[in-house]
Amino acid sequence: MATPDPDWMTRGAAHVWRPYCQMQTARPPLPVVATHGARLVLADGRELVDGLASWWTACHGYNHPHIAGALTAQIARMPHVMFGGLAHEPAYRLATRLADLLPGDLNHAFFAESGSVAVEIAMKMALQFHINRGEQGRTRFLSFRGGYHGDTLATMTVCDPEEGMHSLFTGVMPAQVIADLPRDAAGEAALDALLTERGPEIAAILVEPLVQGAGGMLLHGPDTLRALRRLADAHGVLLIFDEIFTGFGRTGSMFAMQAAGIEPDIVTLSKALTGGTLPLSAAVASSRVFQAFLSDDPEAALMHGPTYMANPLACAAANASLDLFEDGRWRADVARVSSALAEGLEPCRAGKGVVDVRVLGAIGVVEFADPVPVGDLCARFAEAGVWIRPMGKVIYLTPAFMTPDADLALLTRAVRQIVGAG
Ligand SMILES: *Cc1c(COP(=O)(O)O)cnc(C)c1O
Repeated sequence: MATPDPDWMTRGAAHVWRPYCQMQTARPPLPVVATHGARLVLADGRELVDGLASWWTACHGYNHPHIAGALTAQIARMPHVMFGGLAHEPAYRLATRLADLLPGDLNHAFFAESGSVAVEIAMKMALQFHINRGEQGRTRFLSFRGGYHGDTLATMTVCDPEEGMHSLFTGVMPAQVIADLPRDAAGEAALDALLTERGPEIAAILVEPLVQGAGGMLLHGPDTLRALRRLADAHGVLLIFDEIFTGFGRTGSMFAMQAAGIEPDIVTLSKALTGGTLPLSAAVASSRVFQAFLSDDPEAALMHGPTYMANPLACAAANASLDLFEDGRWRADVARVSSALAEGLEPCRAGKGVVDVRVLGAIGVVEFADPVPVGDLCARFAEAGVWIRPMGKVIYLTPAFMTPDADLALLTRAVRQIVGAG
């Protein structure tokens, strides 16, 4: 075996294309050599408290021994087999557990490897649902300003058109119908009017329930979701909840939909599904959607099958992550994180340029009037011993649920210092 190259970072920097990055001017990334609990260990030995749980994935913290043990056992037995024509226990068990865990009759899981692909699959399911039922012309989607559903070409079309990162590509893909989220009776009436006009071309309404995450951590209430359910039913369109960010406890309930007491026709899951260890996603459909694909006609089937779909290692990690949710301790932890964020970030209201401070579940947000200098702030946060990467106009915290009180205090103090609020 080759000995590790001590100069890997300098050598590789000429060859790695980084995400969301103007590489001519960006600072170099921080080299991470290990993780544990809620912390990143840097190459120079420093430890940073992770305020983001690695893009919202590591909900139980890093290197959890239960997930690590499940992965070790699974890799010795069977790292991967194709899912076409073959079955394995990790995926079948995971599908059964997701069906049990999700409310209503969201019972049919289609697995993929990333969030964007799960959203693409949900969109494809919705389009074909109507075709299979003999209804032509429902070729578009209705989504919302402030929304984010992924970076692939089709998911870009349902993201916020201006705030999103993809306005550059206007005209490349078909235009969808983008509306304002209904926040009151007037909003619902306006969306009803829009659907009366455009409804016959719409296959599904797509929304991130309770929190529009990457679009700026924008919150809305359960009433909005109930209105969307009513409107979807009234206009014969499907409702897709993208719970890739909100799923698995982040907002305080297991799934955000549970706060509204309603269910979508399809839900997408990813991010925290494997507890932050391996890429895995699912589009889970209701029985009504699933049944529209059952037929004597082979063409009515869903023609989809990512090569690494339902990867046994990823499914084993997801099952182990669900084990950790089973004792219910996450509820107290999310409540504890929530109070620490609310208390620790509240003084930021008085900070320079701050227009709002908000907390929901284990999500804490400080919003500014203008976009913030992300690279500079990341560097200053790292000096303060924390890993926080702002986004657009917001500095936000989405730590692991197990983050100790002292580390939560470090995170909120670092944000207060940056905004000049103590
Ligand atoms: C992150 C995210 C996605 C995209 O997931 P990827 O795994 O990055 O493709 C889609 N929808 C929401 C709500 C997300 O937060």
